[in-house]
Amino acid sequence: MEAPELLSLNKFNVNEKEAHIVINKEICAQCQDKPCLIVCPAALYKLDKNDIIFDYAGCLECGTCRVVCKNKGIIKWEYPKGTFGVNFRYG
Ligand code: SF4
Repeated sequence: MEAPELLSLNKFNVNEKEAHIVINKEICAQCQDKPCLIVCPAALYKLDKNDIIFDYAGCLECGTCRVVCKNKGIIKWEYPKGTFGVNFRYG
């Protein structure tokens, strides 16, 4: 199976009341490199003109975006609480 097909097997219990990752769009708009667009394996960071659009639903909780964000554009990153978040399935 290819990666997109494998990723589609995962289940997500999204906490609609509280995002586990929050970005500051003003900081992100000023970031020159925007590495989050490249590194997120779930492709949750998108570019709209110069603005970063982000939706935490579908997050694989890998933490890569937090590591590569050097401008502190990610103002909150924590694992989803309780039973929320990704449930990995391997086929
Ligand atoms: Fe994407 Fe991983 Fe960041 Fe989730 S933690 S938004 S999957 S890079």
